[in-house]
Amino acid sequence: MGVKGPVAAHPARPRASERSRRPARSAHEKPVSGRMGAQPPRYVIALNPYPHERYTKCPRCAVLTRARKLPLVIHVEGVGLFVLRKSCRLCPTCEMVIVHQAELEPLIVASFPSIGAPGGRLDYLILGTIDLQHWRRGLAGGSSIEQLTAHMSDFKTGVTLEVSPGGWGPTRPRQ
Ligand SMILES: [Zn+2]
Repeated sequence: MGVKGPVAAHPARPRASERSRRPARSAHEKPVSGRMGAQPPRYVIALNPYPHERYTKCPRCAVLTRARKLPLVIHVEGVGLFVLRKSCRLCPTCEMVIVHQAELEPLIVASFPSIGAPGGRLDYLILGTIDLQHWRRGLAGGSSIEQLTAHMSDFKTGVTLEVSPGGWGPTRPRQ
C-alpha cells in the first residue's frame, strides 16, 4: 500500500453517520474538543507531494478515483482561514481526498500575494471541507467565521502518501 498514517492503523473506524448516533466519545475516537467544524467529520485528507503522480487509482484500495472540485477550508499562517475550491481526486470507497501539493500551493500564494513576496513563508493546514451550497451563498454575500465553521466538516484524519524507491509497494521508514 502507498499509505501510512493513523487511518491505515484503524481501517475499521466507524463512518461519521454511525458515530453521530453513539455517545460523544469512545476509546477509539479522537477527542471532539479539537474539532473546528460543526458538521460531522468527513473524508480522509492526503496531500500528494509527487508532481508527476496523479493518483487515478486509490493508493490504499486501488479503486479508480474520481475528479472532484471540493471547497477546502485552509488555515494559512499569518492570514487566517479561507476557502479554496480545488479539484482533487476522491476515492469513493475510502472517502480519501487526495490533494496535489504542486497545484495547491501556487493557488494559495496567488490568493495572498504577501506570502509570495520576498521573506514570505507558506505555512498552511488543510482542515476540512464545507457544504457546497453554503460555499456558493458565501461567495455572494461574504461569510463570517461562525457561518463557515457551522457548515464545515473537519477531515477525519490525514495520511502521508509515499512512493517506495522500487515503485509502488509497502511503505518503509525513510533513512
Ligand atoms: Zn480507496
